[in-house]
Amino acid sequence: MAVMKFGGTSVGNARAMQQAIDLVVREQQNGTPLVVLSACSGITNKLVRLADAAGCSDIDEALLLAGEVRDHHVSLIEELITDQAAKPQLAAKVDGYVSKLEMLARGVDIVGELTERSKDMFCSFGELLSTTVFSAALIEQGHQAEWVDVRRVMITDDNFGAARPITPVCEANTAAIIRPLLESGTIVVTQGYIGATESGRTTTLGRGGSDLTAALFGAWLGSNAIQIWTDVDGVMTCDPRLVPEARSIRIMTFSEAAELAYLGAKVLHPDTIAPAVEKNIPVWVLNTWHPDAKGTLITDDPERLVGMSYGGLVKSIAVKKGQCIINIRSNRMLGRYGFMTELFGAFSRHGVSIEMISSSEVSVSVTVDDKSFSEELLQELKALGQVDIEHAVATVSVVGDNLRMSKGVAGRIFSSLRNVNLRMISQGSSEINVGFVVQEQDVNDAVNTLHHEFFSGEETAGIFEKPAGIP
Ligand code: ASP
Ligand code: MG
Repeated sequence: MAVMKFGGTSVGNARAMQQAIDLVVREQQNGTPLVVLSACSGITNKLVRLADAAGCSDIDEALLLAGEVRDHHVSLIEELITDQAAKPQLAAKVDGYVSKLEMLARGVDIVGELTERSKDMFCSFGELLSTTVFSAALIEQGHQAEWVDVRRVMITDDNFGAARPITPVCEANTAAIIRPLLESGTIVVTQGYIGATESGRTTTLGRGGSDLTAALFGAWLGSNAIQIWTDVDGVMTCDPRLVPEARSIRIMTFSEAAELAYLGAKVLHPDTIAPAVEKNIPVWVLNTWHPDAKGTLITDDPERLVGMSYGGLVKSIAVKKGQCIINIRSNRMLGRYGFMTELFGAFSRHGVSIEMISSSEVSVSVTVDDKSFSEELLQELKALGQVDIEHAVATVSVVGDNLRMSKGVAGRIFSSLRNVNLRMISQGSSEINVGFVVQEQDVNDAVNTLHHEFFSGEETAGIFEKPAGIP
């Protein structure tokens, strides 16, 4: 049995939801699937805004947003459900959730404080609503299906906003609640992203957490596949908005996928990888709108990987814009110890995460997200040495599991970029990525050049595919 996870855009409107329903029904030939849904696209963001508005006593704004959440789902019902008699009952369910949401907003407004705990409560409504409408439509169309409140199954710690499951409890719950339904041929529709503590407080796994939910359930059920349905043709060789020639990658390893996720490819939640890796369950990233396109298979299964590495070069190019280079130069580093501890301590005290690092005997360059950079951090760094800052740069990372085994890749990368001004270079210690930094204005040029260098050759045929939407 498969776990099918549909992202926000795959359930965002009636047409998408119907398409997802059709895919679920089709999957039944291979066994009854567990369906994990995200909130409709844009709804979680709206709920975050709603929570913030309530937290700063802008109750009018909060209620306005709650109204928009209601309207979205009511019109979804209007379009998707055909039985006129069933509509009011379902709309009443939506109303029930939205009334709770409004109550929560008023409560937070009165207390005048928005905690992580209440924020999770706000955010949970998106998935509760999308799954409610989806399962109703599935049942109306004659399929045996059941809506399950995932908070009965996904029991987590109380780290609100980034909760993690208590595995033995979740496994037992999955076996007791979900497995019997699936075994009796009942499609189970449940929420991604949310969970609850043992005492019943709603939690979330963190933004984008539905993928993790799907992977966890895949592991707990011993599924034969986890399908992540989204609105792109799997994992791409590069962001197609940057590189029109971007291809979809047929197959990649778990470490490549994880590396890419950390490097800014917005395809998978990085932690998604772990539960699937442990059980060696293949993860497919598929396009809801091109269900017959091959999508991307993420696996470490050597049998499936055979013949798919074409001598093993670059799999993908990840880009992160909006970065900043911080250069720290100090003679105190020369032959001394402890300098790095002081340096990293400063970043850690300011809660700034370092992305790329490159160092010499007397200087260290790091990149950080431009938004996380602050004057206070700068002052502290200045106490350590001479500091230069370069804003508006982008990191570009070239990823491939076999990079470490192949000769001449770095040479190919950098000679193809001979006309680009490289601001910094770093080879990841994982050896599966080579990264560099360019000014934002040069990104387009750099990635298109690189893409052409690595993905236009004959040897790449069969491993990378044109997205199905492009003739
Ligand atoms: N709805 C949540 C979010 O937007 C979780 C998800 O879609 O994975 O972050
Ligand atoms: Mg998502």
